[in-house]
Amino acid sequence: MTARPDYNPKDFAAIEQAVADGFNPVVDRQVQLWEEQVGIDPIVNRRVFELAPLPTPAQMLSGYPLEEEQRDLVVKTREQLRACLYGEDDRLVVIVGPCSIHDPVAAVDYANRLAKLREEVSDRLLIIMRVYFEKPRTTIGWKGLINDPDLDGSHNIHKGLILARKTLISVLKAGVAAATEFLEPTSPQYLSDAIAWGAIGARNTESQIHRQLASGLSMPIGFKNSTDGSIKAAADSCYVSAHQHIFLGIDHMGRASAVETLGNPDCHVVLRGSSSGPNYDRENVSKAMDYVRGRMSENSAASHGLIIDCSHGNSGKDDNRQIEVVRDIAGRIASGEKGITGIMMESFIESGNQKAGPLDSLEYGKSITDRCISWKDTETLLRELAGAVGAARAK
Ligand code: PEP
Ligand code: MN
Repeated sequence: MTARPDYNPKDFAAIEQAVADGFNPVVDRQVQLWEEQVGIDPIVNRRVFELAPLPTPAQMLSGYPLEEEQRDLVVKTREQLRACLYGEDDRLVVIVGPCSIHDPVAAVDYANRLAKLREEVSDRLLIIMRVYFEKPRTTIGWKGLINDPDLDGSHNIHKGLILARKTLISVLKAGVAAATEFLEPTSPQYLSDAIAWGAIGARNTESQIHRQLASGLSMPIGFKNSTDGSIKAAADSCYVSAHQHIFLGIDHMGRASAVETLGNPDCHVVLRGSSSGPNYDRENVSKAMDYVRGRMSENSAASHGLIIDCSHGNSGKDDNRQIEVVRDIAGRIASGEKGITGIMMESFIESGNQKAGPLDSLEYGKSITDRCISWKDTETLLRELAGAVGAARAK
């Protein structure tokens, strides 16, 4: 933990000692806070122990900048993605990679493997790697690399932001475009220059904050159906995010700002199944598309098609089941089914998952969140998907 700038080191040591002695330092400490100096300490920050300033987005972006080649990859991939989303490019979009990034070395190892295959099948698939740093939890648990990069509860967010940027830059350097889930409304200012596709997760799909955020993001955004399976929330999100909004946010200097956005026309629905079962089948896809077409204009990205997430509620988070789901969709694409713009797969170097813990206690290349398909099976499946696109074209 870093000291607040208005503590001197002695004060901070006293606070740390108070915590070690089992006191609540907000109540029991001897240190004068800013809130006390202005006389509002009985009413504000009663349950906030620490507000540790972070570098500004501008400092982070200039400290760890994308090079021209990486910027070009982001721009080019976003353009190609838009072409797929509007049906001007008939390649299948594939968002593939680990549920979460916990080890930047393994993430870059995975990116290097994916880069070769991405190139090999580039006339049939537009592959983007999942590079997810923020994990929404159903209850409590590890919240991702930005929140707790050392995986030990020390929550060094400053280090996490640097690691996340460095990882994204290395993934782009390997030649692979990146996808991520946006969770905290301030984090895109630190990372979004490196992202080609963004997700709003099932737990946030009905959140006004995330819809406003999506309305100002520079890349296409997929809204997951809600955890209870509702398509309405995700379709409403596409509608809302396409509009202009004015809301509270931060600028590149980290200053609280009134943010005025233009609206994002490139949002679309992601079917991820639900707590009551999968929704990747033909009937659910067609029902979801009918619903979206009733809500969105005919020429919107959302009306053209959707992305199917083969993991999560669509596989009961079982990696073997996920493989079957990918194969089912490949078969349907090959037979000419319309409406599937892309698919998402959770895949890493090793299959399955393991319990989260400090890096040196973990098995290399294995997920610490949802179960993943192994790299070996991923390679096979990506080639099968490319074959399916070829078969659909030959019809
Ligand atoms: C994920 O993509 O890992 C995820 C958390 O998805 P969802 O929001 O669909 O649960
Ligand atoms: Mn997951």
